[in-house]
Amino acid sequence: MSQKGPDPICDFHLTVVIYQQSMRAVSTANSLAERAYDEIRRMIIRLDLAPGDVVKEAELQATLDMSRTPIREALQRLARDHFVTVIPRRGMFVSAIEFDELAMLYETRAIMEPYAARLATKRGTQADWDEMAEVLAETELPGKQPHELLDLDRQCHEIIWRASGNRFLTNTLDTLYAQSDRLWHMYLADVHDMGHAVDEHAAIHDALQSGDAETVASLLEGHVNSFDAQVRDAVTSRLTAPLS
Ligand SMILES: [Zn+2]
Repeated sequence: MSQKGPDPICDFHLTVVIYQQSMRAVSTANSLAERAYDEIRRMIIRLDLAPGDVVKEAELQATLDMSRTPIREALQRLARDHFVTVIPRRGMFVSAIEFDELAMLYETRAIMEPYAARLATKRGTQADWDEMAEVLAETELPGKQPHELLDLDRQCHEIIWRASGNRFLTNTLDTLYAQSDRLWHMYLADVHDMGHAVDEHAAIHDALQSGDAETVASLLEGHVNSFDAQVRDAVTSRLTAPLS
């Protein structure tokens, strides 16, 4: 007489199914928090949430049509990345950017952007450089607004970061770029010659494509430094301008 015991294969199958379902739930939750992070960070960069503004969780839940958990997770990450500041017993605020932080921001970018580009000359593919050429072609179209040019600038940098094949580098550069992007929106009116900054990418593209790591690195360093100088000038003149 045979008694049916537990079927190990069937149990294993069931475990796999439960595991897959729970992993799917985890990845959906992650991607929601990720989306919340991107959206809230975009609001901060574009100054829809300006430095010093109170961050209201309930409002964000309504605006983004999301529950509390992903919004909380996104805000925790934004606090780690210095986009928001938590003041105990007072609440959460959009972080200010201090003048000395500007120097830290750009000196870090001036080292890491050329480094990523160096790696990209070794690890990038023709498909990456073709994609970058397409983005650059778009910058040539007449009538581009400064914020559109900045979007295209970002896309060029994203291609280089991705081509570097180092996700730690990509994550850090993404955060630094976002902070820099926020400064640019703050001082947008004072920064001239956006087209010139974007034009520098054409030379960077050529050097990447020909695998010339030294030239790529020095062009990238110059590119970050010239943008830095423009923002600093704008900040300085804003700070020293007589009150109107
Ligand atoms: Zn650029």
